[in-house]
Amino acid sequence: MQALGAQLQAKKKTVALVPTMGCLHRGHRCLIEVAQERAQVVVVSVFVNPVQFGPGEDFDKYPRTEAEDIAMCKKLGVNILFMPSAGEMFPPYFSSGVEERQCSTGLCGAFRPGHFRGVATVVLMLFNIVRPQIAIFGQKDIQQAAMVSKMIVDFFVPVAVFIMPTIRELDGLALSSRNRYLSEEERKVASQLFVALNAAYQVAKPGVKAKVLTDIVAAHLARFSLFRVQYIELVDSAFMSPIEAVLERLDCMLIAAAYLGTTRLIDNIRILPCHK
Ligand code: AMP
Repeated sequence: MQALGAQLQAKKKTVALVPTMGCLHRGHRCLIEVAQERAQVVVVSVFVNPVQFGPGEDFDKYPRTEAEDIAMCKKLGVNILFMPSAGEMFPPYFSSGVEERQCSTGLCGAFRPGHFRGVATVVLMLFNIVRPQIAIFGQKDIQQAAMVSKMIVDFFVPVAVFIMPTIRELDGLALSSRNRYLSEEERKVASQLFVALNAAYQVAKPGVKAKVLTDIVAAHLARFSLFRVQYIELVDSAFMSPIEAVLERLDCMLIAAAYLGTTRLIDNIRILPCHK
């Protein structure tokens, strides 16, 4: 892959990278299709990155569907599918790490210590291996996309990031490889996370306090006893820092994480600035 990346760069090809952990679904497909519109060569990476999972998280049971992923990439006409092994990426002598400290400290970062460090490290490695001009991420993991964007600025990485909207099931549940962990009963209520965010979104306009919005989300979720809320926050979209109220000229997001049984769901909804 490193040799191919160098060759493509020498040939001045536009390369787009879609980094994934595999178990590809419609959400990933959307990123791949956008990559194909934007670049001459599309590289999809499938790597279940061990260093972004904390102790006790689901690294071992994270769904791996290699054959289906290969078939989907073939069908979509992906040019290069990069599936390194954990040993190739993190040999025993590996001793470095990338830490972004603005976008990645709150929200999921506060509950998953080391997670974003693991993500930033592997994403920078993938950028160096593949040498893309473009990288495509999904809004579902907005904190990850924000952190990567900030890391790119801090390290002068010549990659343009595109963030694509969240692809959902018909009832609103954001597609995720982890949705397959949900029991039938949990799956029935899972979409309520998005319904709750939407209920708050309906009243979001400049001046409305964060607490008003987060209370609406919390009250809605409280009606479904299976949910255990981890966080609900109003943050600015670029740096993921908490804000006290919806501002007229700032793009912000209502963002939440909640458990259904042992499955952790995240979702967010963007509140665009309204210019009068
Ligand atoms: P993952 O394989 O879950 O690590 O995700 C790989 C990429 O796909 C990340 O940029 C995710 O944000 C993106 N992604 C995952 N689920 C969705 C979705 N439902 N809609 C859009 N993008 C998604």
